[in-house]
Amino acid sequence: MCKSAGEPNYPRNGLNPNSELDMIPSQTNESEGRDPGARALGFLADHRLASTPVNYWVAYDYLGGDNARLDSAIDEALASAVGLDDFVMREIYDQHVSGESFRRFHGMGEDIDKLLSGLLDDVRTVDRCTSDFRASLTENITRLDKAQDPAGLRTVAQNLLQASVAANASNAALQKDLEATEQEAQRLRNELDNHRREAMTDPLTGLLNRRGMEIETARMFDSRPGSDAAMLVIDIDHFKKVNDTYGHAVGDVVIRKVAETMAEMAPGEAVTARFGGEEFVMLLPGASCDAARTLAEKVRTAIARLRLIRRHDKLAIAPFTISVGVAIRAPEEAVTALFDRADKALYEAKHGGRNRVIAAS
Ligand code: GH3
Ligand code: MG
Ligand code: MG
Repeated sequence: MCKSAGEPNYPRNGLNPNSELDMIPSQTNESEGRDPGARALGFLADHRLASTPVNYWVAYDYLGGDNARLDSAIDEALASAVGLDDFVMREIYDQHVSGESFRRFHGMGEDIDKLLSGLLDDVRTVDRCTSDFRASLTENITRLDKAQDPAGLRTVAQNLLQASVAANASNAALQKDLEATEQEAQRLRNELDNHRREAMTDPLTGLLNRRGMEIETARMFDSRPGSDAAMLVIDIDHFKKVNDTYGHAVGDVVIRKVAETMAEMAPGEAVTARFGGEEFVMLLPGASCDAARTLAEKVRTAIARLRLIRRHDKLAIAPFTISVGVAIRAPEEAVTALFDRADKALYEAKHGGRNRVIAAS
């Protein structure tokens, strides 16, 4: 699913997303001599903050010390009575981290401006050369009419040759400039694609994030207004206990493993997203109620069967389960209404004892 083509981001926390899922690094409490990702983890633990992607990012940047505005926002929060919590971290992220990415976008806008004004200069140069060439032709044709002897004819011919050599040279220079411009435009296009993908991707799991899901599902619903679809809303059961028992790093691996299992089992056309902390959504275009329930059951069973071993001390992580709410799209139903019904079914699954699939009636 939609893995960012750029830097995979989450390795900031020191975990390798491609590692075997029994590989969970040990955490230590000393802050010195650790890599920046581990120090960010330590910072979150010290301030009793969950190791959510947003919190990591803010902590990582704070410890890096390269973002002065973010640094003083954190220092101010630490000095205040409120201190740091998820809400404050989110605000700091929105203002000083995602703001940074807007500045990068803005920088790209300047690059595009430069590219266009360079092109405009090229066009003006070509225009001037063409006018010069035309003027030279006109002048020499007039001379040709008046030329009386071979010497006069030779002069006219030499003038024409010079003019055409100059025009050729300017065309060759233009051709070179255009090729360079084409390459630069391609680079900017790729960069823009990377930014777009990054903005829609959850860095921990590589699945779409909430924004990506909203964009993709809206696209799907717009392109097939009356078509069938099913939605699965999935939530890890008693996940807080996983964090409390084994720490957030293990919690993150569990989230990643659930995401991986979902992504492996999702049909090709499904939209699979991490909606929030330990909640996921899968939209299945064209799926019947039976097909959606069957898939939900398969995912639930596959996750319940997962066994993780912490690599450094061989500790077996207790099995974990998910609850799933399923809803089938009513005719013309909006995606938000479909989500609400699937979410209510999830709530029933939780209240019915968890580790189960409930379909909305
Ligand atoms: P329930 O079965 O009712 O869903 O209980 P729960 O414990 O799973 O639900 P609850 O909403 O109480 O707890 C969810 C926890 O998920 C709280 C939060 O700290 C944790 N969490 C959210 N995002 C992340 C993350 O990115 N990484 C880790 N490790 N934990 C996270
Ligand atoms: Mg939840
Ligand atoms: Mg939960």
